[in-house]
Formats: sequence, C-alpha cells, structure tokens
Amino acid sequence: MSYDSNNIMVILSSPSGAGKTTITKKIQQKYQSFKISVSHTTRKPRPNEVDGVDYHFVSHEKFKKYINDGKFYEYAKIFDNYYGTSKESVDESIKKSDIIFDIDWQGTQQLSKFKNLKLIKIYLIPPNKEELKERLTKRNQDSPDEVERRYKAYDKDIQHWKDYDYIIINQNLENCYKQIENIISINKNKLSIFSQTTQ
Ligand code: 5GP
Repeated sequence: MSYDSNNIMVILSSPSGAGKTTITKKIQQKYQSFKISVSHTTRKPRPNEVDGVDYHFVSHEKFKKYINDGKFYEYAKIFDNYYGTSKESVDESIKKSDIIFDIDWQGTQQLSKFKNLKLIKIYLIPPNKEELKERLTKRNQDSPDEVERRYKAYDKDIQHWKDYDYIIINQNLENCYKQIENIISINKNKLSIFSQTTQ
C-alpha cells in the first residue's frame, strides 16, 4: 500500500462493548472526509445490521478463499469468526478520504507492519469491568453465552493497550468523542504542516 495524500488512517480498537462502533459512526457523520472501513466477516448479521454497510457478511468458505487470494491487509479470528480488511477498498478510499478502522489488536499489529501508513492508533477502554458487562448486556445484540465470552475476553484484550498511540477511557460518550476529535485535528494539522515544509 502506498499513497502520497494527506489523508490519515485512524484505528479505533477496544474490548468488545466499550462503545467504539457508536463513536466511529459519529465521526463519519460529522466529518465528510472520513470513510469507515467496512470489514468482511463470517459472523452472522445482528438484527439491525445491513450487509455492505456494517460489514460484508460472507461464508467461511468465501473468507478462506479471500485469504488464499491475498485479498486482505489484515485478518483475525475473533470469537470463532473471521474478520478482515480488504486491500482493494482501502487502497481506493485512501486516495480521496481519511479512513477509520474499527478493528481489534491483532489487525492493528498487522497494519502497523506497513511502515509507510500514517496510522493513528487509539484504544478505547470502559471505565471498569462492571460497566462493560452492563453495556454488553444492555445493547441486547448477542446471546447470553456470547456476552459472557466477550466479557471474559476483556482481560486478554486489555493487555494490548501498549500497541496504541492514545488510550481513552470511555466514561462519558461526549467527552470521549471530543478527545478523539482533538486527536484527529492535531494529527491532520501536523501532517499538513509537514507536507508544506517538505514541498
Ligand atoms: P463485532 O462482532 O462486535 O462486530 O466485532 C468483534 C471485534 O472484531 C471488534 O473488536 C471489532 O473491532 C473487530 N473487527 C471488526 N472488523 C475487523 C477487521 O476487519 N479486522 C480485525 N482484525 N478486527 C475486526
């Protein structure tokens, strides 16, 4: 992947249930310049999810074929399903937009290997574990077993905070969103100054 534009790539990761999907959507609504990277997944759609908007929902067979064809920049197995970021759509989007990725720590590690990418890596954490449990249960999108599995994954997931540039505690959605806006704005300005001074 190579590109010359001043567009940035923001990775937003968190333990499941920490609120990143809401924030990702809010950023896209406010900033016309941002495109959400729509991942491929073998997970079944939740009732409110739309194919091609929330994810590209594909079978295990298709996903494995895509892996073999080298279609992904990164992919990971999470909670028994595969999730991956398509090269083609990222390469196309970055020519004209900033991109926001809602991916996990495994995907973040893989994307970080592309040293030419202007990645801004943000890790969102819930204020405490109890709050996480409440959010996972309240959002009412997964079965009780799945909620339990996601809750249990927290301890392992949180160990990867060190791979990120910024850590934000999602105590309050609005504050959290403002912090992310500041991070985006600082990094966009930095990039713009840098490109002016190197022209
Ligand atoms: P969910 O099933 O709740 O939509 O997502 C489960 C986890 O998969 C979340 O942590 C989300 O960030 C992560 N995820 C979604 N798409 C991708 C992807 O393309 N690559 C990787 N590595 N993780 C992803």
